[in-house]
This record gives sequence, C-alpha cells and structure tokens, in this order.
Amino acid sequence: MNFLGFEGGEAVKAQLDSMEKSRRMPHAIIVTGGSDSTREAFAMLLCKWAVCASDGERPCGECSGCHKAEGKNHIDIYYAKGSGKTDGISVEEIRNITRDTAIMPHEAHRKVYVLFNADRRMGNESMNAFLKTLEEPMQDILFILTAENIKAVPQTILSRCTCLTLDSVSEVPQEIKDIAREILLSIIASTELPLLKATSALSTRQVALEVLPVIREVLCDALSVSVGAKPLFDEELAVQLRQRLTKSKIIRLIDVTSDAINKTNRNVSLVLISTWLCGEYRRISWQM
Ligand SMILES: [Zn+2]
Repeated sequence: MNFLGFEGGEAVKAQLDSMEKSRRMPHAIIVTGGSDSTREAFAMLLCKWAVCASDGERPCGECSGCHKAEGKNHIDIYYAKGSGKTDGISVEEIRNITRDTAIMPHEAHRKVYVLFNADRRMGNESMNAFLKTLEEPMQDILFILTAENIKAVPQTILSRCTCLTLDSVSEVPQEIKDIAREILLSIIASTELPLLKATSALSTRQVALEVLPVIREVLCDALSVSVGAKPLFDEELAVQLRQRLTKSKIIRLIDVTSDAINKTNRNVSLVLISTWLCGEYRRISWQM
C-alpha cells in the first residue's frame, strides 16, 4: 500500500500492508489514536486507497479516483452528514446508508462510507442500527469510522471492525515500556520461562492494550533497522531483535501481536490471549 507521505503510524502501516498482501482487507475499519487531524488524514488516505483506479500500488495519488477522493467529491464515497447542534449521526441516516449499500458502486470497485468521530456523534440507537448494517453480508463496501475514545464504541461493533491505532508511543509511561521490553527480550531468550513470566504482566485488558502496541512498534522498528532506517522508539532493543530474528520472523511476530490486540479489543479472555500469544511468540522465535 502507498501511504503518500503520511507521517507516523508505522505499526498501522505494517498492519495494512500485511492485510493487503494476504488479501484480508476488512469491510469496516475504526481509526483511533493520534489527533483529530491525523485520524481524518488517515481516513482520507484509506478512502483514496478504496477508490483508486491504478493497477499498481494504491492509492496512486494521480488517477481521477484519487483526485476526487482528495476533493471529497467522489460519487462512491459518502460522508455521514450528521445534524443538530452536536452534529449527531441519526438512526435515520444510518438506515439510509444501509439501504444505499445495496446499490452497486458507480465508478470505483467499492463504495465507502465515512463516519468521522463516531464515538461522539453516534448515540446508542445509531450504534445499534449500525451494528445491524455490519451484520449484513457485505461485498465491495468499506466503512471507515474514526473515534477518539474507542471505549465509547460498543464491543459488538468493535468485534466486527478492524481497529487501526495511530497512537505514537512517545508518551507511553515508563512502566509500560519496561513490560514491553521484558516481553521482547524474553522472545529472544534461550528458554521459555522468561517469556511465561513476562507475558504474565499483561494482567489487565488496559495494560495489554498499552503494552501490545509498544511491542508492535518496537518490532516495526526492528524491521526498519534491516533497511537501514533509524528506529523511532528503542534503537538498542530494535537492533538486538534484528540481530536475533530474521525479517520474516519479525513480520510474523508483528502479525500475531496485531491479532492479540484485536482479540483484546474483542473481549476474548485475557488468560487465553496471553497463553496463545506466549505460544505463538515461542513458536515463531524458535522455529528454524
Ligand atoms: Zn489512484
């Protein structure tokens, strides 16, 4: 995928790249983390990706699809309008969107519906109506939601969406960085005991949702080391990981970490997640 100079969100970029390569592009994406403007910019990039007409790397930034998406006047991209003082997205509007999904796209290969600030603009009723939409079988449809407060989005909706978190890790508390570091070091340790011990620190859902993105960020840094780029986060650790792990192992570690984040968002039991993750990390790290 072409990110057209979008700055930041390296982990998210790696996540999208891997989804695109394995043709696992989702029907619904929630963009969270970062600032209002970075979330919007990233959502716009996804819009271009969805309607770009190029056969090469998308979005190309040059075709008429990309230009129309840029100018917010592509016929196949709908932006939830909202109404009233709070700019709320009404149940009526969601139902209209649902009806519209049945109509084939006009110019692009798929239709896109963008719901900016869904956490602030959608009440319970709208969320419920939207959930019904997500439960319908969908083809050639992409929903893009942005949310500052992901906790305001019901689990039932989160479980049907792919969550892309733009958070930068620079403001992560030291104790979270330390847990992530312990886990990463134990992945390259020679016995499995340190890994079992380190992953047991993922004691609450909140800790897991802070630690796992840091792990993914450092693994992405380790990949950047291999192409000579300067790591953004923890250079020493990234170099150490890169020396011990092949590129393909690092990519697989990033993938399972992303899966673990999705599972954590989906309310899967934390014990199951850490046991599973521990097993996956071990398998990937020690496999020949
Ligand atoms: Zn294009």
